[in-house]
Amino acid sequence: MRIENDPKLDFRDVLIRPKRSTLGSRAHVDVNRTFRFAHTGKDWTGFPLIAANMDVVGTMAMARALLKHGAMVALHKHYNADDLVAFFREKESANAFYSLGTTDSDHDKLKHVHKQVPISKICLDVANGYTEKFVDTVKATREAFPDAAIMAGNVVTGDMTEALLLAGADIVKVGIGPGSVCTTRKMTGVGYPQLSAIIECADAAHGLKGLVCGDGGCTVPGDLAKAYGGGADFVMLGGMLAGHDECEGEIRYEEHDGEKVAVGMTFYGMSSDTAMKRYSGGVAKYRASEGKTVEVPYRGPVEDTMQELMGGVRSAMTYIGAVSLKEVPKRTTFIMVGSQLNTVFGS
Ligand code: 5GP
Repeated sequence: MRIENDPKLDFRDVLIRPKRSTLGSRAHVDVNRTFRFAHTGKDWTGFPLIAANMDVVGTMAMARALLKHGAMVALHKHYNADDLVAFFREKESANAFYSLGTTDSDHDKLKHVHKQVPISKICLDVANGYTEKFVDTVKATREAFPDAAIMAGNVVTGDMTEALLLAGADIVKVGIGPGSVCTTRKMTGVGYPQLSAIIECADAAHGLKGLVCGDGGCTVPGDLAKAYGGGADFVMLGGMLAGHDECEGEIRYEEHDGEKVAVGMTFYGMSSDTAMKRYSGGVAKYRASEGKTVEVPYRGPVEDTMQELMGGVRSAMTYIGAVSLKEVPKRTTFIMVGSQLNTVFGS
């Protein structure tokens, strides 16, 4: 047994210190980034936000809506092959990842779809990216799809980030336990504070010209700024994009003055009972531990939420004088607040 003593931080443990700058308005900042994928040599430009490959938010409708902002979607893996072929033939699929796990049937379906329409972005997603089997899957996928950008995870440490990048991933997905409907920390005791996971994995990845996607744990727009400030190249959101018209969650209505009004929508973890029941028999367990089912408020079209998210990031950039999103980590100084101060200095 070993104890690590240095502080590990979640988003709530820090704030970003403002910095003097010549920047006048949030209209003058650019939230787009251009990345070169290490294994394909291809460039991608856009707002580096990705809707999670969960079946409520990782939808084709979400992909079409987010593309207007240059953002991305990792489609959930429960679409059938015909629907996927039709979707990837659309121009609006430009920023969408095809998601899958490690099973033979997942990979057979990908090959079948790819024969009919080229797939250029692949998200290899498992709960625990630390297994040899997963590294082998990343290697095999890289060999089979030399021209595709591959995102793989999830891990939370620099050593495994390097291993996945060397195996063929362009982007490593970072996060074990921070998700809004995830109970991994409670069920297994395993996890890693998300901001520290991002900082450590980004440091490892950037040395190899790889990229990281901070996955899970963002609950307010300011958390996106903290994730980018910590070195996340991409940020993946589940709960913050739930409850919208573009989602595939069940809507709950109430009667108000004789009218039926949408008030809530179900949102659930991909290893929750809800997901298991929905796919029982058909799909192997997606997550090693359980997830939960919640109701989020119904929020209408995702457009307003995207404006709010991008507005929050732009405003954070003006506070620290970053003209482009690329400058954000360089201009970020985190101040520890709240519980971590007690951990470090005693309460
Ligand atoms: P959120 O943005 O809601 O905080 O986190 C979204 C992330 O939670 C997803 O991208 C995925 O990594 C993770 N996740 C989704 N469903 C489950 C689940 O059932 N169990 C666990 N442990 N994690 C989940």
